[in-house]
Amino acid sequence: MSQRIVKNYVNGRWISPKHNGTLPVTNPSTGEILADTPISTKEEVQRAIESANQAFPLWSRTPAPNRVEPLFKLAALLKENEEKITRVLVAEMGKSLPDARAEIKRTVQNVEVACGIPNLQMGEKLLNSAPNVDGEVLRLPIGVFAMIAPFNFPAMVPFWFLPYAIATGNTFILKPSERVPLTMEIITQYIDQIGLPPGVFNVVNGDRTVSETLLDSPQIQGISFVGSSNVAKIVAKKCVETGKRFQALGSAKNHLVVMPDAKMDHVIRNMITSCYGCAGQRCMASSVIVCVGDVTYQSVIEKYVSASKNAIVADPLDPKVANEPIVIGPVISAEAKERIEQMIEEGINEGAKLVIDGRGYEVAGSENGNFVGPTVFIDVKPGMKIHSDEIFGPVVVIMKVDSLDEAITIINQHQYGNGASIYTQDGFAARKFKLETKAGMIGINIGIPAPVAYLPFGGMRGSIFSDIKAQGKSIIRFYTEEKIITERFWD
Ligand code: NAD
Repeated sequence: MSQRIVKNYVNGRWISPKHNGTLPVTNPSTGEILADTPISTKEEVQRAIESANQAFPLWSRTPAPNRVEPLFKLAALLKENEEKITRVLVAEMGKSLPDARAEIKRTVQNVEVACGIPNLQMGEKLLNSAPNVDGEVLRLPIGVFAMIAPFNFPAMVPFWFLPYAIATGNTFILKPSERVPLTMEIITQYIDQIGLPPGVFNVVNGDRTVSETLLDSPQIQGISFVGSSNVAKIVAKKCVETGKRFQALGSAKNHLVVMPDAKMDHVIRNMITSCYGCAGQRCMASSVIVCVGDVTYQSVIEKYVSASKNAIVADPLDPKVANEPIVIGPVISAEAKERIEQMIEEGINEGAKLVIDGRGYEVAGSENGNFVGPTVFIDVKPGMKIHSDEIFGPVVVIMKVDSLDEAITIINQHQYGNGASIYTQDGFAARKFKLETKAGMIGINIGIPAPVAYLPFGGMRGSIFSDIKAQGKSIIRFYTEEKIITERFWD
């Protein structure tokens, strides 16, 4: 247990919450306990809900340009303090410094997009929609919204929602992942300085019990969830039962298709980044390589395996590796490491050929870290568990198919459809892939097709259980209710 229990931020103040126990926040590279997450009680969650509810009437009537003023300040503060936030993020989550910096940049980009709300939220008017009758569409804020976050992007994922919810005139409660509350803690220190009225933004720490209180509350109008598909389904079901709006983004298993004409040297570098960045714990990480034709298959195996053997596995805060573009850091917990190693065992039992084994990986000087080395299976068949399940670690499976059609069929029959990419110089193949592949985010010679903040983010099929995706313009529909006015005045 650490000496320090993370505080909640409610009604514009830091609060030491009453709690039903605590959970350690551990540096996954070293095993050091950094702080403890309080499992806030129901009453503490209710306190945040009340404060957000009370703040709503005035905030929702505040003019849009005034609502985004604090966000301009926030963008500036986050940029100024990028390095400080980055180091907190790396210490609790374990991704590399360049990955964490990129995450903070995308976080800021979401704030900047939300600064455009006065334009994005603007309504519509049709003069003379009938003789002397005007039609008008208003986009109105709704009330209190909450967000339940995953561990792998402690800053960026909450910011797919937070700045938009606030800028559109709603009030907001964030429940960070209990495993990584410190990044939002430092970011909230900056939010505290931007002049938001008390109660507009609140943070409540805890585990699933905190989510459950948020889900049960009739005072909460909508929930955004990002995490595993099993929980996303529970959240979606609960929101339907309680009449809430919801977004529920879930798990992934992203495929990379390599065509015979692909520019192989670029492709190998790009695939290494996609599969091993963030130790394979990105929802946009790729973990299945599908090679079209035997020559492509043999060439990818030879080059990819050799590049994997050279990948650096280390504590990302070790100054010796801090500036390396690719560092495979630890996975989030000892349990995650154990689960990943069991999946590797499962792959061997299923008959796939293990050509690099990352089990039992030790990093000198970081013996208590949760490291899994790069792991590669070949001769993998669709439907094997190592292909069908999300492993969420640096484990890659390589498959061979005879045609692009066969590759697309494998992707489309998979339970998840978050992202998928093709490597080719052939425009016809690329077009066919982007039109026929049932995944929400498609890459053409891009291994991590994660859209910028101006565009929507979200998958298809088993990777999402709602209609409206995260960030960008599309989220304005989630955070506003359209009211349609038809009016006339007699002479
Ligand atoms: P998780 O589902 O275990 O937890 C996510 C959040 O839900 C946490 O805050 C947790 O406290 C809460 N939670 C857990 N059980 C709950 C329950 N029964 N009811 C209500 N809330 C509950 O996910 P994780 O391990 O933190 O994150 C990794 C997962 O997130 C992976 O599956 C990954 O693919 C997914 N992810 C998806 C996207 C996307 O855009 N689709 C983005 C990031 C992560």
